[in-house]
Amino acid sequence: MTIIDGKKLSNEIIDSLTNECIELKKIGITPGLAVILVGNNPASATYVNMKEKACKRVGINSFKYHLNEDSTQKELLDLIDRLNKDDKVNGILVQLPLPSHFNTDEVLEFISYKKDVDGFHPYNVGLLSLGLEGFKPCTPYGVMKLLKAYEINPEGMNACVIGRSNIVGKPMSMLLLNSGATVTTCHSKTKNLKEITLQSDLIVVGVGKPNLLTADMVKDGAVVIDVGINRIESGKLVGDADFDGVSKKASFITPVPGGVGPMTIAMLLSNCVEGAKK
Ligand code: NAD
Repeated sequence: MTIIDGKKLSNEIIDSLTNECIELKKIGITPGLAVILVGNNPASATYVNMKEKACKRVGINSFKYHLNEDSTQKELLDLIDRLNKDDKVNGILVQLPLPSHFNTDEVLEFISYKKDVDGFHPYNVGLLSLGLEGFKPCTPYGVMKLLKAYEINPEGMNACVIGRSNIVGKPMSMLLLNSGATVTTCHSKTKNLKEITLQSDLIVVGVGKPNLLTADMVKDGAVVIDVGINRIESGKLVGDADFDGVSKKASFITPVPGGVGPMTIAMLLSNCVEGAKK
């Protein structure tokens, strides 16, 4: 059994992006990422700070905008409009979730698809489902990079994705389908989850429930990618898979932390540098 090291691969990607940024600067280009935080969600503030730090590390200019909790949809759209037109900004990211009075779909659609480094704009979602080049959502894109780095080719595999969110599950299923896997997407209404996982060569779980995937649900030699991030009572961070049990069955498994998480930020930076190059 191999533990997939997302921290190591993300560091390699970040080093190579740092070199790309040095080269881009020589021709007068500095990639720029605008990050918009609305309100006072502490987890969102932490994510935004992590993204800012990561940008600094590779040499991407980061522009942070913090709107009050009670700011309006129009104020947010006006800011996005300015950033859409700003040549110093290649990527625009609105940290989700937004406070409940916002129309998130309208906000995401308002970001220029050319600066949509999160890959959430309907245009980029369309490109992804057509199997065409466009910005890909960072977490599933990071999973594909991990699989490639460990020479795990999904072609011909029975793959099961647990979770169908627009951020993780759906784009994950699409990327695996595009790479030749036979994909089953499971979710909260799925009745025979264990039956499906037991037939799967590759399982990607992104639900947000500790111990959702247990050893008895995994066939010998399966590849298990755990996207879940859960903080349990002891304060420890765990994924959705029972790591100790599942790792006895799996051929490859990602740990939490240190698996998919670090890849998400690396792919965000990668999308931003790609945007600047275009
Ligand atoms: P979400 O709440 O939007 O979606 C959860 C999905 O799980 C839903 O589609 C739901 O149908 C499904 N689900 C719920 N209960 C289920 C059950 N019992 N059986 C099967 N499916 C079930 O969450 P999300 O934004 O997709 O995030 C999922 C998890 O991934 C969370 O733990 C989140 O913290 C984590 N996450 C990690 C990263 C990363 O970088 N590693 C990035 C994004 C999200």
